[in-house]
Amino acid sequence: MKEIIMADRAGFCFGVKRAVDEIINALESRASAQGALLPKGAVWSIGMPIHNPQEVARLKTMGLKVAQDADEVPDGAMVLIRAHGESRAVIEGLRGRGGVIVDMTCPHVRRAQERASELSSQGYDVVLLGDARHPEIRSIMGYVDGPIDVVANVAEAEKLPKRSRAALISQTTQQEELLADIASVLVSKTGELCVCNTICKATVERQDAVRRLAGKVDGVVLIGGKESANTAKLRDIAEANGMDVLWIESVDGMDWGWLQGKIRIGIAAGASTPQWLITEVCNKIARM
Ligand code: SF4
Repeated sequence: MKEIIMADRAGFCFGVKRAVDEIINALESRASAQGALLPKGAVWSIGMPIHNPQEVARLKTMGLKVAQDADEVPDGAMVLIRAHGESRAVIEGLRGRGGVIVDMTCPHVRRAQERASELSSQGYDVVLLGDARHPEIRSIMGYVDGPIDVVANVAEAEKLPKRSRAALISQTTQQEELLADIASVLVSKTGELCVCNTICKATVERQDAVRRLAGKVDGVVLIGGKESANTAKLRDIAEANGMDVLWIESVDGMDWGWLQGKIRIGIAAGASTPQWLITEVCNKIARM
């Protein structure tokens, strides 16, 4: 007999839910207004609106267009800015071409953008903790005019030069322990260090929920997009706490052999995983 134990925080966070709801709202409004009140053409997102291919595919069937970059968006189109945000230059460029901007930047990301901008203009060199290729980090970088570095780990922080003033700001999905470790590296090489904990509560809650599964389950099925940074962090935390992890994007990725010999199965999901995908996986495991 198998038992399924759900992580007590899993799936869409506030910022992702807000963005997806707004996309659906815009698509439905366009469909009902038949273009009379809204700009001509489709509703666009620059890049994947969320790091979940299955949910993005569903939104595309409703009419969402996903551009590789801002240049691909037609003049005058309606553009939804995803929860990761966009740089100031990109948004101003779209507005300059007559674009209608629906800005769904998550308020937690907005705070990181604003702190980076303020502290840079006050003369602090900005150090961002995060993945330099991630859209959220690129959006925060787009609000800083002065010096800026991005570090992903302690080894990279150790290579930074000594400075008189620095501001350490985190990608919202990082782990607090790593932020503290980076801060302790920088404190010895900086005259005045300002540390902003811009890690969002939703991220911490999902990480703690995975930690609480330790000792209660024989393995964890982690549901989330393979490009999702916060899901990758959940995998790291589960493994660091001794759990056997099966990371899947949807029920199609289930390795049924992995369940063999496991009695209690934990289910966890990243902040960009919709409830319908979680339900599908739970139902399928329950039926097995
Ligand atoms: S994980 Fe946090 S910062 Fe990112 S979209 Fe969700 S609520 Fe916002």
